[in-house]
Amino acid sequence: MALVNEHFLKLPDNYLFDDIAKKINAFKVMRPKADVISLGIGDVTQPLCPAVIEAMHRATDEMGNPASFHGYGPEQGYDFLREAILKNDFLSRGIHLDIDEIFVNDGAKSDTGNIQELIRWDNSIGVTDPIYPVYIDSNVMIGRAGTVENGRWSNVIYLPCTAENGFLPQIPEDRHVDVIYLCYPNNPTGTVISKQELRKWVNYALKNDTLIFFDAAYQAYIQDDDIPHSIYEIRGAKRCAIEFHSYSKTAGFTGLRCGYTIVPKDLTAATLDGNRIALNPLWYRRQCTKFNGASYISQRAAEAIYTPEGKEQVKQIIDYYMQNARRMLTTLRSLGYECYGGENAPYIWMRTPNGCSSWQFFEQLLYGANVVCTPGIGFGPAGENYIRFTAFGSHESTAEALERIANWSIG
Ligand SMILES: *Cc1c(COP(=O)(O)O)cnc(C)c1O
Repeated sequence: MALVNEHFLKLPDNYLFDDIAKKINAFKVMRPKADVISLGIGDVTQPLCPAVIEAMHRATDEMGNPASFHGYGPEQGYDFLREAILKNDFLSRGIHLDIDEIFVNDGAKSDTGNIQELIRWDNSIGVTDPIYPVYIDSNVMIGRAGTVENGRWSNVIYLPCTAENGFLPQIPEDRHVDVIYLCYPNNPTGTVISKQELRKWVNYALKNDTLIFFDAAYQAYIQDDDIPHSIYEIRGAKRCAIEFHSYSKTAGFTGLRCGYTIVPKDLTAATLDGNRIALNPLWYRRQCTKFNGASYISQRAAEAIYTPEGKEQVKQIIDYYMQNARRMLTTLRSLGYECYGGENAPYIWMRTPNGCSSWQFFEQLLYGANVVCTPGIGFGPAGENYIRFTAFGSHESTAEALERIANWSIG
């Protein structure tokens, strides 16, 4: 008899964005003429930059010619891309990596979800709360998260990040965390972590034999010089951290798919009898078995981001979104709303006024201003009484949405 993996049945039925879509549909039935603007989108809207498009055209032509055709590539990625990553994303910040520590992938979601295969089923998991749902759900699917009650999993240690603690996860004193997921700049709060605060986590990890999964998907949005782009800017991190990068939000690759993961050779985890096992060869083995590489065309596209033209063009797109973020912060704050993030990330995390619940405010904003946001509670218990706005819209639609929010708030 084929028995189903019942851990899947524990996952909540409704995914946040389905609930949002349902509420928008209900609104549209009532007000068919209303034109709704979304400041809730989690996808980029600006097209790929010219340097990337040219590289893809060239790569496509190569694929059509027997002399330059590329079939299966190396599972861990082509050297041309891994060398560009090494030089531009790490060496430029004084971080020395070996090329075999870089694993090119089809985006960060796959690897942030898959990486937990490297650790035993009974490790304790720590997450900042609110959080990108993939980290918890991927652990639920194999039974590591335990059971759920009131939106909390029994084997997950939640580290609340709220205005009260400056959105900084506090190191838990009562429970040992075997594995911790950190994401900075953060989705959904748009907040960042300083080197000093990140150093506390690296030191905790080294001292307590904790593994850090560091999601750097938004590092390209960092504007302040002293905010770390990589956890390896912290001494000792190569012995305790795996880091995830993505070209999705950096360069508009959400539909193209490419990213990479760093698994340092110095990184080890223990067996039950105390032997230290290097994780890099394990991840290599895992990828060779379950992954056949990102496409040649995607990897050539990613390489183009590191050319002088590519860098300039990508920077312009990021500046475009960050202009939205600045406008949003200025307008919302002038209306008296309490806002966080948005300075080094494309997300603004806003406290709902008068203790309104996330979903209540979502509905008020939808019906009052015809603007969509994302309810903070959808990202975890500590997201209650907050909502998320994204800066991924066009300048025009963002400006229009802000005007509507202003009229609604004042009126
Ligand atoms: C968007 C996002 C990713 C990247 O997803 P891709 O699979 O690379 O498109 C990873 N982590 C977080 C927190 C994200 O918001």
